[in-house]
Amino acid sequence: MSVRGFDPLRLDVAAFAKEAGRIEGRWPLRALVRLHDAAHPDADPRDAAEVSWQARGEWRLAGGGGGRPWLHLSAGAGMALVCQRCLGAVVVPLEVKRSFLFVPGEDAAAQLDADSEDDVLALTRALDLQELLEDELLLALPLVPRHTVCPEPLPLVLDVGAAADDTPNPFAVLAALKRGPPN
Ligand SMILES: [Zn+2]
Repeated sequence: MSVRGFDPLRLDVAAFAKEAGRIEGRWPLRALVRLHDAAHPDADPRDAAEVSWQARGEWRLAGGGGGRPWLHLSAGAGMALVCQRCLGAVVVPLEVKRSFLFVPGEDAAAQLDADSEDDVLALTRALDLQELLEDELLLALPLVPRHTVCPEPLPLVLDVGAAADDTPNPFAVLAALKRGPPN
């Protein structure tokens, strides 16, 4: 067992597995840019929300001698998403718990991934664990995030007269928000 540290952004998967390595840490959600794009736009820019994660390597013996490197990844975060009912922020717990088998070569990995229930990736000496974790967290996002009970009562009656004066119609503003930013 060596005492050298493993870099989660350039992880030598085979060495990590052979040493039964364990690493863990916390990353600010803001650092996961693709994931953060799904956050509620009113989220505080100083938002200290973090994702905490753990990774464990395992060299699992396979038939025919030798063995195969596995990576077990788990993570959790609470993320403010846009409630699809009231458009307010709803904090949704995200959980990831996945195991990955690594085999040499992209083609072999793709073939095995299609044929097996395990997640199979191409073996690399420089795995970006942050990118892999972000992919998994994106998959863990709920399709339709919403409060169990929205904090504000929903407007049920439109005041048609209000649209005639110069004040922005709050329902038009809501509709614009629902449509999202123009492309
Ligand atoms: Zn809501």
